Amino acid sequence: MENLSCDVLVLGAGPGGYVAAIRAGQLGLDTVIVDKDRPGGTCLNVGCVPSKALIHAADAFEAAKRAVGGNALGISVSDPVLDWSKTVAWKNHIVAGLNHGVEGLLKKAGAKLVTGTGRMKDGKTCIVETAEEEIRITAKNVILSPGSEAIELPGLPFGGHVISSTGALALETIPERLAVVGGGYIGLELGTAFAKLGSKVTVIEATAHLLPQYDAELSAPVARRLRELGIDVHLNSKARGLVEGGKRLEFETEGEGISHIAADRVLVTVGRRAKLDGWGQEELPIDLAGGFVHVDETCRTSMTGVYAIGDATGEPMLAHRAMAQGEVAAEVIAGRKRIFDPVSVPAVCFTDPEVVSVGLSPDAAKAAGHEVVTGNFPLAANSRSQTLENRSGFVRAVARKDNELILGLQAVGHQVSELSASFSLALEMGARLEDLARTIHVHPTVSEAIPEAAMLALGRGLHV
Ligand code: FAD
Repeated sequence: MENLSCDVLVLGAGPGGYVAAIRAGQLGLDTVIVDKDRPGGTCLNVGCVPSKALIHAADAFEAAKRAVGGNALGISVSDPVLDWSKTVAWKNHIVAGLNHGVEGLLKKAGAKLVTGTGRMKDGKTCIVETAEEEIRITAKNVILSPGSEAIELPGLPFGGHVISSTGALALETIPERLAVVGGGYIGLELGTAFAKLGSKVTVIEATAHLLPQYDAELSAPVARRLRELGIDVHLNSKARGLVEGGKRLEFETEGEGISHIAADRVLVTVGRRAKLDGWGQEELPIDLAGGFVHVDETCRTSMTGVYAIGDATGEPMLAHRAMAQGEVAAEVIAGRKRIFDPVSVPAVCFTDPEVVSVGLSPDAAKAAGHEVVTGNFPLAANSRSQTLENRSGFVRAVARKDNELILGLQAVGHQVSELSASFSLALEMGARLEDLARTIHVHPTVSEAIPEAAMLALGRGLHV
């Protein structure tokens, strides 16, 4: 058995782990990072990146289909054809290029990447099984970043026609009929993409509205667009299992009883949970809380010298939260005074239209005891949105009534995900409504809707 020793061992090379390893290496710490798969984790290999590639391809194909017979821009095409194998190859090429990029960044920072399955034996020792041998790694500090996994439904275990998001991103053909169980962001992003690629999509959602993590005002334009795309949505409905030899999905709707739909594939996206097995968690006396590894604001677990980051440590399970924690953990180990204490973790839903939310919604702000003012600027009144053929959606500002401190910024609309940068900056810098209202934004851009929303909250909108 080969023996390695290091200052920092990072277990899991997802966005949390690889960022931690890069930063630890930059800070002069002798660092080893272990992953059983290609570096980049769920996000790069089977999550954020391939799903956004698929969404872009689906948007491009749908735009071409809408131009059949001519569109308002004067563009006319006759018969757009999708070569799915080329689409998949293009998506895989992007992922592979970024895998190499992460490898290069780790190497540049002086962090050693070991490919194999790691199992903690105690808080300082990890045994890694590689394709060739076993390696014992002894580390002064450990950063656990094993990520998360898709939740299975008891009546619909993964396998055969029942797939997780990972299976959906690896489909060799586009299913004729796709049932999506779970109307959260992953289900709707993928469901929308497959509908644009030609699948007949049905969404089964257990709660009373889609995207339950967003308020109804934000999710309504998404629900409208799903209808336009011909996607059937069944709310208050619970999938029960496959019947008729797996060809039909049975679900029960509150007050309506049991129904069946034909489905070639059933995509189950009912949430993700922390990965707490397969890496030796049971060998470590670390505290868990609510199904996650418990960490303090420095990303320390209850065990000295053992840190944890990313999806394994709690909600929101998002790549940028994992990355930010990775940086904090590495810097704390290097002796720097750092804490993970963001004002807000921004969230984007890459549906059509996109939804972005930073900080508190009006209802959440009220529930937190604030008296609030809000400004809601429609993108129909924004000239750039019109030149992009986007007339629906809005930007919303939420602020305290007493001192105009911004508590939240949200938007729904075509490509509004990019506005999240300004939203996050405003919240982290403690901006007030006047700060946004007086900042000159480029004309014509969608971002002009930000000062407009702030001005509306101040009672003096200009362009509505
Ligand atoms: P992960 O990325 O899950 O990485 C954990 C790593 O640990 C994996 O590489 C795994 O192989 C490795 N590992 C686990 N156990 C072992 C072991 N015993 N030995 C060796 N290696 C091990 N987030 C966003 O912010 N934006 C998005 O647009 C977005 N889209 C998504 C779309 C989909 C379809 C999915 C599924 C997720 C999406 N996410 C998105 C969520 C995002 O992927 C996760 O929040 C992020 O990957 C978490 O990073 P992490 O480092 O904590 O864990």
